[in-house]
Formats: sequence, C-alpha cells, structure tokens
Amino acid sequence: MKGNVTDQALEHIIIVGGGTAGWIAAAALGKVFKNRAAKVTLIESEQIGTVGVGEATIPEILRFNRVLGIDEDDFVKSTYGTFKLGIEFVDWNCLGDSYIHPFGRYGKPLDSIAFYHHWQKMQNLGKADDLTAYCLAIQACYQNRFTRPLNIANSPLQDIAYAFHFDASLYAKYLRRHAEKNGVKRIEGLVQRVDLNPDSGYIEQLCLSDGRELQGDFFIDCTGFRGLLIEQALHTGYNDWSNYLPCNTAVTVASKRLDPLPPYTRASAREAGWQWRIPLQHRTGNGYVFCDRYIDLAQATETLLGNLDSEPISEPRAIKFTTGKRKKIWHKNCVALGLSAGFLEPLESTSIHLIYEGIAHLLGLFPTKHFSQPMVDKYNAMQEKTFTNIRDFLILHYKLTSRTDSPFWQYCRRMDTPPSLQQKMDLYKASGRIYRENNELFGEVSWFAVMRGQGFHTQNYNPIADMIDVNSLEKQMANIKQVIANSCQTMPNHAEFINKYCASSTER
Ligand SMILES: Cc1cc2nc3c(=O)[nH]c(=O)nc-3n(C[C@H](O)[C@H](O)[C@H](O)COP(=O)(O)OP(=O)(O)OC[C@H]3O[C@@H](n4cnc5c(N)ncnc54)[C@H](O)[C@@H]3O)c2cc1C
Repeated sequence: MKGNVTDQALEHIIIVGGGTAGWIAAAALGKVFKNRAAKVTLIESEQIGTVGVGEATIPEILRFNRVLGIDEDDFVKSTYGTFKLGIEFVDWNCLGDSYIHPFGRYGKPLDSIAFYHHWQKMQNLGKADDLTAYCLAIQACYQNRFTRPLNIANSPLQDIAYAFHFDASLYAKYLRRHAEKNGVKRIEGLVQRVDLNPDSGYIEQLCLSDGRELQGDFFIDCTGFRGLLIEQALHTGYNDWSNYLPCNTAVTVASKRLDPLPPYTRASAREAGWQWRIPLQHRTGNGYVFCDRYIDLAQATETLLGNLDSEPISEPRAIKFTTGKRKKIWHKNCVALGLSAGFLEPLESTSIHLIYEGIAHLLGLFPTKHFSQPMVDKYNAMQEKTFTNIRDFLILHYKLTSRTDSPFWQYCRRMDTPPSLQQKMDLYKASGRIYRENNELFGEVSWFAVMRGQGFHTQNYNPIADMIDVNSLEKQMANIKQVIANSCQTMPNHAEFINKYCASSTER
C-alpha cells in the first residue's frame, strides 16, 4: 500500500440532526477527533425540533458514559434523572398479572449452570419459593430501594446492574456541552436540499434554507423519522415490521412526580397496546403506545389520561411511527443513526442503546474517503443482526400473551412468529435452555424473565442441576433467598439515595 491510510482520512464529518442521536454521535466523534485533523459539524433546526421522548435506558448506557468520561452524579443531576433496575410488565400475560424483567440476575450460578435451572428443578418438586424472592433487583423494585454496586465480597450487592431514566431534552443538552467542549461545531439551520454527485451518487453538499452551502465527505443522518439523507436523498428503502410489532402511534403526557419514587419503568398492557410510566425527579413521563387499527387517538388519549398515577401537567401529544428498519443503514457516504435508522418501539427501552451500538460499530469500521464496500456491507450486516435480535425479544412479549379480551391481543396471539424466535421458544420448551446468540443484547436472564412472566412454562432444565443433592440444594436456595432479603434491607430508599448524591436543582 502506498502512503498511509490517513492520507485518505475524512476531513469533514457532518451530522444532521440535534436530537438524542445527533448529540450522542457528536459527543462520541468529538471525543475521538478532539485536536485531530477531522472537523465535526452538527446542524439542527429549532424550527423542526426533536421527537422529545426516549427517557428510559438499559445498563449498557454505563459503558457509553464511561467512554465519554461522564461524571454520573453530575449527569443524573443535570437531566433530572432517576435510577432504573428493570421494567414491570402489568397485565401482559393476563389481566391482574404482573412481573418484572430485572437487570440483575436470579440467585447465583451453582455447579457452573445458571440459577434458573436449579430453581426449575425445585419448582417441579414443590420446594422452590416464588422466583422473585431470589432476585435482588426485583425485591429492590418492590421496596423502592436503590444503591450502586458495593464492594462487598460474595454479596449480591456487588452485582447490581442499573440504568437511568432522564429528561430527553436535557440529555441532548448535556451531551451537547460535552461535544462542543471537544470542538464539535453546531450550526442552527434548516437543510432544504441534499446535493448528490451525479456520477457516484454520494452526498456532496447540504443546502440550507438561508442559502448557506455545506460540503463534507461523510454524513451522519440523525434527522429522526424523516430520514432526510438516508431515505429522502438516497432512497435506501425500509423493512416494515409492523406485522410483528403492530403498534404505530404513541400519545404522551407528563404528570407530576411520583412519591414514592420507583426505581423502575412500568409498562401496563392496555386494550390496543401498552402504557409507559417513567419516573423522573421533577415529573413523570407517560405514554400510550397503540395500534390505530384497533382504537383511535381520542380513545387512546382518554385511556392514557384515565390511567395516570399523578396529575397531568402537559397537553397530550401524538407521535406516529412504523416499526422496522432501513434496508441499508449505511449507504454510500451516509450512515443513519437513531430514528432515521429504524424504530422498534420503546417496550424494552432499546432505541438509545441502538444509537450507541450504531456509533460503536461505526468507530470499529471507520471509513476513509474510499468507503470500502466490504466494510459498508459488514456494518449493515451487524446492524441487521442487532435490530433483528431485539425485534424478536420484543415480539415475544406480545406473542406469548394469554389475553383474548380485545381484537388487538387476539391478533398478537395469532400473528406469525419469525423462525429465529420460534427456534428459541422451541429450545426453551423442549430443554429449559436459552442461548445468547451472536452476542445479542438480551441474555438468558432477560429471556427467562419474559418467557416465564408471559406464562410460557417448561418443566425441563439442565440435568447438571441433578448433580446437587435435593436437600443440599434446598439449603443453598434458602440461604440465597435470605441473603437477598437481608441485602435488600440494607439498600437505601431510591429517593433518599438521589437526595444524598444527585438531587437536581428545584429551579429549572
Ligand atoms: C413514543 C416513543 C417513545 C420512546 N421511548 C424510548 C425510551 O424509553 N427509550 C429509548 O431508548 N428510546 C425511546 N424512544 C426512541 C428515542 O426517542 C429516539 O431513539 C431518540 O430520541 C433519538 O431520536 P433522534 O435523535 O433520532 O430523532 P429526533 O429527536 O426526531 O431528532 C431529529 C433532529 O433532526 C433535526 N432535523 C430534521 N430535519 C432537519 C432538517 N431538514 N434540517 C435540520 N435539522 C433537521 C431536528 O431538528 C432534530 O434536531 C422512543 C421513541 C418514541 C417515538
């Protein structure tokens, strides 16, 4: 090879869009390119605004925060954040039923196999307590307690996995400060036209409504559902997954702060979808995600307002979407991130994670001005896997319902199951085994929690569990339960923890 790859290095990266996706991309690229040759510019338009939702996360956010060098208390304080230990699913299997998908694990591995195999064995023998008694995260949710992991040997308090709830607009502002500190330039402006090279079809420049023109060699489309570059200019096409994930509208409203302050998101199934409740320090985020084939916006709004746990403090607002993903998330010299790449609906709070994953894959496959096609293909294949794995996990919640009380739930029970998901369900039913395929986001605990929570039971388990004598196992499980109950008692109340370390200012 002649010369150095840096001879071909990108000189100007342009991010279009200043929502969560745009500022995540800007913060990450700002960190990488600080004091280096490539210039990073972000264009956003106040005239258009952001989607204004996306307030619940999963534990992978901690990795991103660490990479950026974010001080966690400062971050929680600045975004009116709270802590999250899991998601409570209410009325999903049948009316009156509820379960928690915890971030932490159940019990602890015994004889090198996961705890749930031992629990299943003892459950079959009528010697196991309710599964929730063996999970610290679930017990802490029930008691509104929280602490960060503590350095105590052999204690479940060592392994606390958590994420955050935060105010979406403040999150973008927070990241903006990081990005600008690292040299990212922000331009306020409305992109009106995207000019492509007539021969290559690559994006050459963006024309703003005030006549400014902006040339770059790599473009990141963070324009939300519009997909201004990836779709409107490059016409990459969209895989519509609404046959599997039929919800297509959300109506949202803010309500007053909850007291006590739960350290978890709640997702309550409703007649034609589900309602979220996200506790923040200064307010509660609420939304009804529904399918408009079964109810209209007025009915959904009435249901949402009739099922709030605190007094509403904003006007309801509707958002339309189609679940699915772009056929090519990277095409020519443009990568889509955030809603412009696709949207799988917010049931397991995975969209912001998909942005981190998109940017991490991009840094791993960072291009030169040559844009090698095998690298682009690799990126698209990785994104396809990531989206599909999460899609399957989301479908599981709907498909396994026992509800027959509305046409929406009847549809969900009857709908097709993707073969990739069916294989997982069959394996579990036949053997009690769950495999994390291709390093997918959700691991054994998550799949187990949702399959059991949705009433998808098996009596099968890994026969290695039989290597432990029943009496000995009974004692070990009783001990685990006791340690969890005791550990939970030592955890502070969630609101008190926040007050001590990261309370937001009362003035906004
Ligand atoms: C109902 C709902 C609930 C959700 N809940 C969650 C959740 O709990 N957890 C989670 O992880 N995710 C959630 N998400 C997803 C999350 O909101 C998004 O992934 C995240 O906000 C990123 O959005 P974005 O930045 O891609 O798009 P937007 O926020 O829509 O930002 C688009 C940006 O592009 C700019 N723009 C557009 N056109 C132009 C133009 N022509 N010129 C200049 N600028 C332009 C806009 O000004 C804006 O700055 C939810 C989404 C929805 C719809």
